[in-house]
Amino acid sequence: MDIDKKLGLFLGSAIGDALGAPLEFQKAREPEDYLTRYSTGGPHNVSLGEWTDDTSMTLALASSLIEKKEFDADDIMKKFYQWFKEGKFCTRSKCFDIGNTVYDALSSYSESIKTNKLHQPYRGRITENTSGNGALMRMAPVVVVSKDRDEAIRLALQQTLLTHGSQLCVQYSVMFAEELFLGKAIPKYSTYKLPDNIRREDVMSGGFVKETYEAAWWAFSTTNNFEDCVIKAVNRGHDADTTGALAGMIAGRFYGLSGIPDYFKNNLMMYDEIYEYALKLSDTNVKTF
Ligand SMILES: [Mg+2]
Repeated sequence: MDIDKKLGLFLGSAIGDALGAPLEFQKAREPEDYLTRYSTGGPHNVSLGEWTDDTSMTLALASSLIEKKEFDADDIMKKFYQWFKEGKFCTRSKCFDIGNTVYDALSSYSESIKTNKLHQPYRGRITENTSGNGALMRMAPVVVVSKDRDEAIRLALQQTLLTHGSQLCVQYSVMFAEELFLGKAIPKYSTYKLPDNIRREDVMSGGFVKETYEAAWWAFSTTNNFEDCVIKAVNRGHDADTTGALAGMIAGRFYGLSGIPDYFKNNLMMYDEIYEYALKLSDTNVKTF
């Protein structure tokens, strides 16, 4: 994958997150009413270009891969916990947005350290009702760092199981990582996509892993540039920031950083730091076993 595509994937994720953040938990908007630029407000009262947990967890994971040059599950969980408890990898001094499944995983991880009981970092629950999109939303680093398709799949699986252990989460993570690595939708996964001619109001965009994956691919396959793709994705509302992050990864990977309009780059909070993470990650080789 060339560097423009790697940077596009990584930055695209943060841009989609920031664009969607003010629309989180809101109902979907119609095209004449679309939000097309960064805005303020929403449930976390975000500032212009401010991103949320999707990007914080992405940066925590990226930081560990760069530092350790391998998939160090314990170190990644420690960094996730630093974000959760200390506000590291965050736009504010403390974490302000966390999904239930991630919350449970990080809480049980910290508890296991305190009590020294059954200490292991893979904390994803396996019940199907925990099939949220929290592992998909932080997929960018493992794809950017991977040298081949198998490595992307292996790392996607590992990073998912830290907090999400359901069969559906694993399945969607594998599909998404493989497709992001190749830079296109893979025909064998076409039954997991929505038809292009589906009515817009039938595209769901909640926190369920299936909905986020479907909505992001629908936004990509029914548009022909980065900007239109992320705008279409986030305006489905509900889990708008995460749908935006996924759509941003797909479109950023496809159109490259050079295909992202300057407005979205110049006004993204901490753009330079995120760019630096992406650049270092592109240059990192992780150990294989
Ligand atoms: Mg979020």
